[in-house]
Amino acid sequence: KEILLEVKGLKKYFPIKKGLLRKTVNHVKAVDNLNFSIFKGEVFGLVGESGCGKTTTGRMIVRLLEPTEGEVLFEGNNILELNQQELRKKRKDFQIVFQDPFASLNPRMTIGEIIEEPLVIFNQLEAKQRKERVKELLQVVGLKEEHMDRFPHEFSGGQRQRIGIARALALNPKLIVADEPVSALDVSIQSQVLNLLKDLQKRFALTYLFISHDLSVIKHLCDRIGVMYLGRMVELAPKKDLYYEPLHPYTRSLLSAVPTTNRRAKKERIILSGDVPSPANPPSGCPFHTRCPEVMEICKVQRPEFRQVNNGHYVACHLYE
Ligand code: SF4
Repeated sequence: KEILLEVKGLKKYFPIKKGLLRKTVNHVKAVDNLNFSIFKGEVFGLVGESGCGKTTTGRMIVRLLEPTEGEVLFEGNNILELNQQELRKKRKDFQIVFQDPFASLNPRMTIGEIIEEPLVIFNQLEAKQRKERVKELLQVVGLKEEHMDRFPHEFSGGQRQRIGIARALALNPKLIVADEPVSALDVSIQSQVLNLLKDLQKRFALTYLFISHDLSVIKHLCDRIGVMYLGRMVELAPKKDLYYEPLHPYTRSLLSAVPTTNRRAKKERIILSGDVPSPANPPSGCPFHTRCPEVMEICKVQRPEFRQVNNGHYVACHLYE
């Protein structure tokens, strides 16, 4: 399989400043040494509770946020080393669909203008062809040509997310980062938008990084899934392995909350004690040890390495060493 995107040693530390002189007293380690790859044409899911660093990761990948350290290789080139001009050229290859379809569309622009905007910014096509492209995109996401001259407030949440998707598709990107694209929508609408994303992925052989806090949302969409906890990847596996043979106690607890009709999956709900610790003061050793039902002495002092235990199945846990 061909690798489209490779993330190496990616870190994002936000300084915590205090006092009149705004001295840095500590850092929030939002993303702490992340390593993973996304293959061309796959849907890679990134899951974890809020604050685990998944959104920060997505934003660093599309360069809406500068990493503190690390590399993001897109088709082998480190996009963090590109100058402004080179970055501008590359930018059209990776697009983002935001969580909130209400906040991410400019209320003063018509739908046609919103979808056309990236084509204008990147100097693509003549004016007439751009209009044709907008019509085509509207149709692709299940909207109508006559919607072009209307404004975002005239649409429902699901329709607005379709508009956001059409805009993201305008430049034929190679990678789409979808950051919780359905979590602001009514449950009844969620599956429609998920189905649309799935259809588009098949139709245009797209690659997605799909970010979600909800394992049930990404179950039908993803090929492989990475689970994050406190800024780190704790487990990564092909979907089937992750759902049927989860290894990390954190993944097991997340999965135990997902309703299932499959007899092979464990039904017993695992309730974790305590809250997610602050990423400014992560626990020593294994960052999950303060909540882990299977904690051992070694977990408190030694950080488990992220290792491959089965074909393509990685985990960071002392239980598998
Ligand atoms: Fe639990 Fe220890 Fe594994 Fe961490 S390393 S997940 S504390 S068993």
